[in-house]
This record gives sequence, C-alpha cells and structure tokens, in this order.
Amino acid sequence: MFGLIGHSTSLAEADVATVRLGFPEYSGHGLDFWCGAPPLLADKVRVTSPTGNVIEGQYIDSCFLPEMLTNNRGKTAVRKVLNAMAQAQKCGLSITALGGFSSIVFENFNLSRMRQVRNVSLEFEKFTTGNTHTAYIICRQVEEMAERLNIELSKATVAVCGATGDIGSAVCRWMTSHADVEDLLLIARQRDRLETLQGELGRGKVVDLEEALPQADFIVWVASMPQGVQIDPKVLKKPCVIVDGGYPKNMSTQINHPDIYVLNGGIVEHTIGIESQIMQIIGMAEPARQIFACFAESMLLEFEKWHTNFSWNRNEITVEKMEKIGAASIKHGFLPLLPHTAA
Ligand code: NDP
Repeated sequence: MFGLIGHSTSLAEADVATVRLGFPEYSGHGLDFWCGAPPLLADKVRVTSPTGNVIEGQYIDSCFLPEMLTNNRGKTAVRKVLNAMAQAQKCGLSITALGGFSSIVFENFNLSRMRQVRNVSLEFEKFTTGNTHTAYIICRQVEEMAERLNIELSKATVAVCGATGDIGSAVCRWMTSHADVEDLLLIARQRDRLETLQGELGRGKVVDLEEALPQADFIVWVASMPQGVQIDPKVLKKPCVIVDGGYPKNMSTQINHPDIYVLNGGIVEHTIGIESQIMQIIGMAEPARQIFACFAESMLLEFEKWHTNFSWNRNEITVEKMEKIGAASIKHGFLPLLPHTAA
C-alpha cells in the first residue's frame, strides 16, 4: 500500500476541506488549533494501471499549514511532518510521498537527524519527495506546449524561478542537456547558490525576476513561497507559457490573455482514473483524473515495487532518473496536464 502526505494551502482552505472530508470538528478554529491537531487519516485512494495492476493507498493530512512558516511556528511545522511520517509507518505503508511543503520542511529543518518519533523509528527509505517525477512532468509540459505552439526550444528562452531548489535545479539540468534551450534564466534570492548552479550547468544567466519576465518564452515557477506573487501580464512576451508548479501557487495573478498560457504545473492526468475524493476537495479541475505529480511518484514506485526513497536529499535529481520515472509514468497511464484550449 502506498501513502500520500499532504496539507491544505491555507487556514481558510483547511476549514473547508476538513468539513468536506467528514471532520467538521476541525473547522472554524484559528491557527493554534491546527498547531495542536494530530495527523488525519483522511482518504483511501485506488488506482488502476493500463497494465491491469490495481494498487491502493492512504492519504494523510499532516495538518501542517503554510501560515506556520510565516508565523514563527517552525517547530510546529517540524512536528507536523514527523508525526505524519510516523503515522504512515504505523499504517504499514510501503512507500509514501511527502507532498507540497512536507519535503521542504524535512530538508530545511534537517529532519534526517530526528529519526525517533516517540516509539516509531522512521525508516526514510519508505518515503519519497516525489520531486523527480514532478520535475519530469514540468519539463514535459514545457516541451509539449512548445510543440503545440511551434516554438523551437533550441531557439527559446526558459526562465526558472526557484532554479536552485530541488525541482528547479532538476528542470535546469533537463533544459540544458535534454531540451537544449537557447537561453536559461536562473532566478532565486541567494546569488551564491545561483552561481554554483550556473557553474554546475556550464550555462545559464543569473538574473532578477523583473529582468527575466520580458525575455522569457517559458517561465517555470517552482519557488517555495508560502504565498503567490503578483505579476503584470503586460511585461510578458507574447506568446508566453507559464508553468506554475508551486504549491501553494507561486502566481497570485489571474491572467486572461489569448497569447499567455498558464498551466497548472507538476500535475498529471490519469488515463483511467483515480478513485479518491481528496483531489476534489483540493479543488483540482478534473479530480477523478488529475493528481499532483509528487503523489503520482509514490503510486509509480508501488506499481513497479521500487519500495525505496527514489527522490531524496536536495539537488541530486539526474536527467537519467527523470527519464526512468518518466518511462514508468507513461507505462502506468499518467500524462502531463495540458490546457484543453491551447492551439
Ligand atoms: P526547494 O525548497 O528545494 O527550493 C525552493 C526554491 O525557491 C529555491 O531555489 C529558493 O531559493 C527559491 N525561492 C524561495 N523563495 C523565493 C522567493 N521569494 N523568490 C524567488 N525564489 C525563491 O523547493 P522544492 O523544489 O522542493 O519545491 C518547489 C515548489 O514546488 C514548492 O512550492 C512546492 O510546494 C512545489 N511542489 C509541487 C509538487 C507537485 O506535485 N506539483 C511536488 C513537490 C513540490 P532562495 O531561497 O535562494 O530564494
């Protein structure tokens, strides 16, 4: 059995989600309540592969909220992630994805030092960040949109916001050695880390967001921001493809322009369908078929019986591993989400 550890994107969303999930007692409280709440075994999940294999899993809401990071509740965030992992292990789950901020909290607070959670000794090999599959799907979203819009990637400029992150650096590696884009713009706050990445890639320009936006044919947003940023669509190139892989979304702007294509990044569609109610509660457009690519990674590892932490640590995702999980993704019926209206 596989596992998915997730969380709501805000306190307001958590209030609505818990009622829909059948836990009304969790709704209508403030952040303090959520800080004290134990993880919720919130939903069962069932997936059928085109190969005929059927797997089952468990969705666990860690009761973490991004507001915990902006309100100096770092220790609470740590507790949320560790308790959810211990819960997954107690349920006997073979492989569990750490969705959204779970893996970011794990890394940023160095939780590999904290293996013992009460009477549970965490076995990290039973967990995956899901970031290899997420990075692969984002790259495929860029490549498929390029094909639809007749944009040659070898003549295109791709900007990656969050370039030094786990997903962002993997996207950069793919865009350099696999897609061979003309220009790669690297954006994040810490310049030294950007320069290290630039050195590793042997290419790419370190630029500010304001400088990057007017130049980019494709913008990949994978920054770990608790809240989205506003951007002015007037400054963007036309056409321009924006792949927003952030959770919560990196962009808070709604864009309605025929030549600007905004994609829900790092999302897959399953050809047969996924039996669970969680994606409906999260507000996925087609909840019976769509799911986060990181969650799908734990499904792929379960289908293939690769019960190992396929994506682990930071900035170690190789193009070869992306190709490997990509092949499993295709085999088991997952497709990158693309807009139904594009060209
Ligand atoms: P990391 O923490 O590894 O990397 C985050 C990156 O964002 C770093 O480059 C960081 O660099 C940069 N960053 C953070 N804040 C800002 C800011 N304000 N402006 C510009 N850059 C910023 O995160 P991950 O790669 O693990 O995850 C990235 C995003 O993807 C998150 O939103 C996460 O929730 C989402 N995600 C989506 C999944 C899906 O299935 N769709 C799966 C997993 C994650 P610096 O600190 O120098 O600014």
